[in-house]
Amino acid sequence: MNILIASEKYKELRYPKNHPLRVPRVSLMLNYIKALGFDPNYIEGRNATIEELLLFHTKDYIDALIEADTNMKSSNYIREKYSIGTIENPISAGMWKGSLLATGSSVQAAEYYIKNHITSKEFVSFNPAGGMHHAMKSRANGFCFLNDPVVAIKYLLNNGFKKIIYIDLDAHHPDGVQEAFYDSKDVFLLSLHQSPEYAFPFKVGYQNELGTGEGFGYNMNIPLPQDINDSEFVYALEKAMEIAVDKFAPEVFVVQMGVDALKEDYLSKFNLSNNIYIKAIDVIKSYTKKFILLGGGGYNPISLARAWSLIWLYLEGIKPEEITITKEAKELLKSIDYEDFDELMEDDIYDTILDKPREGSIRIKEYLEKIFSLHKFII
Ligand SMILES: [Zn+2]
Repeated sequence: MNILIASEKYKELRYPKNHPLRVPRVSLMLNYIKALGFDPNYIEGRNATIEELLLFHTKDYIDALIEADTNMKSSNYIREKYSIGTIENPISAGMWKGSLLATGSSVQAAEYYIKNHITSKEFVSFNPAGGMHHAMKSRANGFCFLNDPVVAIKYLLNNGFKKIIYIDLDAHHPDGVQEAFYDSKDVFLLSLHQSPEYAFPFKVGYQNELGTGEGFGYNMNIPLPQDINDSEFVYALEKAMEIAVDKFAPEVFVVQMGVDALKEDYLSKFNLSNNIYIKAIDVIKSYTKKFILLGGGGYNPISLARAWSLIWLYLEGIKPEEITITKEAKELLKSIDYEDFDELMEDDIYDTILDKPREGSIRIKEYLEKIFSLHKFII
């Protein structure tokens, strides 16, 4: 049985005005699923413990977050040393309390995996609030304060799992996760993302970052050019998975499905529809019937609510064509105060859950071959 780990508490744990993460996300997804006539039937998320955070983060960084949360401001020292309280990583209820809940929920997803992976044939444990993949060991980065994917993976490693593949489909390269496991042969990182040539995190995410020491060969970055279509994204994922899974033979799959790669997201330069997530689930399920799924980026609440709801309902066995857009569902999305990026959205966005596919020719075959050739003879 799948589990969804979520909470209505995120409503009160937003980032401040003018920040891309100010928008409703998890609570909107839950309400959208309900408005479509389905029961999201989720398990309430819990806070991470300090001990769990210490699996990755340093004590002084955690103390700095707690201090900034208590004072609702950061000293110059904390801002400079830990990037807490900057424009990118502002102080709000979302900073510590929201991150603590999102991280605890990713640990819950891992706990569920540990308890059920032998006895259950097929399940996904999904924490849409997770996937905060930019946070560093002792520094906030890219809107992220606590790196829940790293904490959850370390939790799995501590519980005896040895070969974990982390697959990241967010529009942005997971620099925090890469740094955490760059020298590890226990975790294979596979990421498809906007090239750092034109997108955050700018400095890392290139194809020649292959890992170091024991971890050499266990890091596969696929930076993609602007404007790629659905066919290209899915092709790249299929080919990359073939190589990565064949080489690494993973025991556990942890997937980050940030939905900011969609065309409707203003942080995306791709031309992708939400059909890619259905296809991505099919690709992953062709390798494993059990995995941990985390959210991630997604800054257009309309396309985010549609995509995550679509993903969850699809995992629950409900096909997109079986979903009827009710009046309530349409009104819910229309009621979201979000007109900044209207021009990116198709007119029928409120009347459908599945976008029209944005398919096309695969122009990146040669480019991908060059990337894959870097991986052919290692590990
Ligand atoms: Zn992102």
